[in-house]
Amino acid sequence: APRQLETDIAIIGAGPVGLFAAFECSMLRLGCVLMDVLDTTGGQCAALYPEKPIYDIPAHPSITGGGLIEALEAQIAPFDVPRLLGSQVVELTGEAGNFTLRNTRGDTVRAKAVIIAAGAGAFGPNRPPLEGLEAFEATGSVQYYVRKRSEFAGKRVVVAGGGDSALDWALSLSEVAAHVCLLHRRDRFRGAPDTLARIEERIAEGRVEKIVPYQLHALHGEAGALTHVEAQTLDGQSRLLAADVLLPFYGLSTDLGPIAQWGLETHRTSIPVEPATMATNIPGIHAIGDVAQYPGKLKLILQGFSEGAVAAHAAFATARPEEALRFEHSTSRGAPGA
Ligand code: FAD
Repeated sequence: APRQLETDIAIIGAGPVGLFAAFECSMLRLGCVLMDVLDTTGGQCAALYPEKPIYDIPAHPSITGGGLIEALEAQIAPFDVPRLLGSQVVELTGEAGNFTLRNTRGDTVRAKAVIIAAGAGAFGPNRPPLEGLEAFEATGSVQYYVRKRSEFAGKRVVVAGGGDSALDWALSLSEVAAHVCLLHRRDRFRGAPDTLARIEERIAEGRVEKIVPYQLHALHGEAGALTHVEAQTLDGQSRLLAADVLLPFYGLSTDLGPIAQWGLETHRTSIPVEPATMATNIPGIHAIGDVAQYPGKLKLILQGFSEGAVAAHAAFATARPEEALRFEHSTSRGAPGA
């Protein structure tokens, strides 16, 4: 059931910068809620490069994207920050002292101030440009994530794409599905050497059928129930693949989408802010991290962290108008959560 939360600060985006802003708010004894469309926290670090080392995080000579998110999670763990994940924030109404946010699942958050740490916007799958796609998406005939492998038991599955996600899922689903076609527009797949070797094995065993070099061309079926995926070569040769489900793995793209419709001043994919407070043009709404823009801005995690601290201090005035914020070092404040 949709949840209704009330807090001081709603944080849109649980990437590295949103996570650290949650720490800064919590240290000021402000309540906060983290909201993200992804099922997990970590933004770009978790979704795009969990295993790559980052070399410019202060005091970490080298830390992977995934490792950084783990460390940020450990840092906010004492505060038990509530999260609404797996759903895009689509609505923001109200004014400083009394905002209401809503996501696509229908959860609502009432907050006194808002910090937008939305990166380049909400992550979503790249969708293939096919006619009538929405109807097939609505029935689950076209899906972009595998939530439960068992749902594919006995099904005829077409996996499209040539990267690691496509290969990994073709391998995994070939153990439960009735049939798996792996369709790619090039002759060669791009994947880890071990994955490539295993996929060639499955193809040789006849458990995965390789359809290359073909592109998705059309979907066939009635009322959103898929019967065939039509694939085509660049020179127009068609093949009809009998299928119950299509899984396109064409990567993730980002979309500022709804954020651009809340009356905020935006410039392409960024939000101009006043760097002394990270304030946007709407009082009570701050923007930090990749989405925030001002003269001298560096789109780096380290700068986003500092912006999180600045925004938390500025938002304090909105959330606690009666209280003066006494500046404290973390060393004198005592252990987080204590
Ligand atoms: P993001 O990490 O983009 O997170 C934003 C989150 O907000 C996302 O999870 C998104 O789904 C969510 N969101 C947006 N809109 C909504 C909405 N409406 N509703 C719900 N959720 C929403 N930086 C460095 O400093 N050093 C490096 O070495 C480095 N290497 C990089 C290597 C790669 C391959 C890439 C892609 C980036 C690299 N970066 C590096 C950049 C760094 O990852 C970004 O600067 C950082 O992730 C920005 O953090 P953020 O929290 O502002 O945004």
